[in-house]
Amino acid sequence: MRTALTVAGSDSVGGAGIQADVKAMAVLGVHAASVITAITAQNTRGVSGILPVSEEFVKSQLEAVLRDCDVKAVKTGMLYSADIAETVVDILEDHEMPLVVDPVMISGTGYDLAQDDLVKTLKRDVIPMCELVTTNRHEAEVLSGMKIQNKDDLMFACEVIGKTGSSVYIKGGHFNTPTVVDYLYLSSEFTKFEYPRLKKSGHGSGCVLSSFITASLAKGIDIMNAVVKSRELIQDSIATQYQIGKGDLVVNPMVKLKGDSDRSAVLGALDSATSRILDIVPDELVPKSGMNIAMAMKDAAGPEEIAAVDKRMSVHNGIIRRNGQIKFGAAENLSYILLTVMKHDPSMRCIMSIAYSPDTMYVMQDIGLNVVVAEMSRDRPTESTEAALSKSKRIPDAIVDKGGRKERIIRLLAKDTKDMLGKLEQLL
Ligand code: PLP
Repeated sequence: MRTALTVAGSDSVGGAGIQADVKAMAVLGVHAASVITAITAQNTRGVSGILPVSEEFVKSQLEAVLRDCDVKAVKTGMLYSADIAETVVDILEDHEMPLVVDPVMISGTGYDLAQDDLVKTLKRDVIPMCELVTTNRHEAEVLSGMKIQNKDDLMFACEVIGKTGSSVYIKGGHFNTPTVVDYLYLSSEFTKFEYPRLKKSGHGSGCVLSSFITASLAKGIDIMNAVVKSRELIQDSIATQYQIGKGDLVVNPMVKLKGDSDRSAVLGALDSATSRILDIVPDELVPKSGMNIAMAMKDAAGPEEIAAVDKRMSVHNGIIRRNGQIKFGAAENLSYILLTVMKHDPSMRCIMSIAYSPDTMYVMQDIGLNVVVAEMSRDRPTESTEAALSKSKRIPDAIVDKGGRKERIIRLLAKDTKDMLGKLEQLL
């Protein structure tokens, strides 16, 4: 497994610092080694004490890790003092790996996390050897020595901070703009990142963002792509931040794992549903072009977030067989129809193709299913499919191709695989 290293402070409440960094890196599938520079006593309301680790012991931790492991990327967070920062620089200088610097100065709750002498060492020794500095407005002002009031100031500050060759990422959260606008200054060019402004970002957002970026660099991803992906992830981490104490909320670095568990839930549900389908569905319901069932992740945005059987189910010597694995992105046409339906009702996340017959149509009407007849083009929805869905008073249980095609198909719709099996059983 690839290893990244975080050199940072311990946060007793677990929302920021080493504790957040380790989670964020693990979520991206990277092992996190950690060197602790200071131990903080704090909760979600404030910092009540800081115990710096001695330079000798910071050195011992760093040497122990670097002597043994092939560390692919490193980040620094709270370095606390010039002495600790210099110790870290002296050792990292002898190792070739990308360094991300999160120049931690003040906690979100407003307490100093750095001694006054740190800034000079950051500017003189730490930043010149790094690939990327991630800063908020205050840190950028301190590092550039200027007030940042507008976009021109911000760009100039990036040039000042990155004058020794490092890239700079300035987060826009603390600027008074309706959306949050961040900038990446990379190879003398600026890239803008604009995101909806969420509620105040919780404890740990800076740590988690720089750890996502560092873990991505450890995986061999370039700075631009590492930042793009990490910026998306931190937005979700802030959107799902949670309360653990009486003060600030803490960001949720594990948000992607939640996505992964949705993915495995979808795959698991389809796996058991297809076994049951193979048992109960008669041959006549299998379209000549094959039968499939697809299920979308919650709020799926594209076919890659919808799973289905890779090669459709078909009849061989009177037995229905599943010809492939269940995979995401396996059924584009069905997925586009499902995505169109989900625009009208996001809770309808399951779709299944079955053969058309007048008998089946009759049974569907008889058991009270709402069937919409709609025009498709090469099995994809068209504007007239959208129009038919909009006209329907309630979300349909099935969409049926208009006549005149080689093979008409019925696409059953349901909330999930259980709901789908219920509808199928009623049909049989
Ligand atoms: N590192 C430690 C140990 C901290 O306690 C904090 C904040 O309290 C930070 C870093 C910075 O946190 P944030 O990511 O919220 O800027």
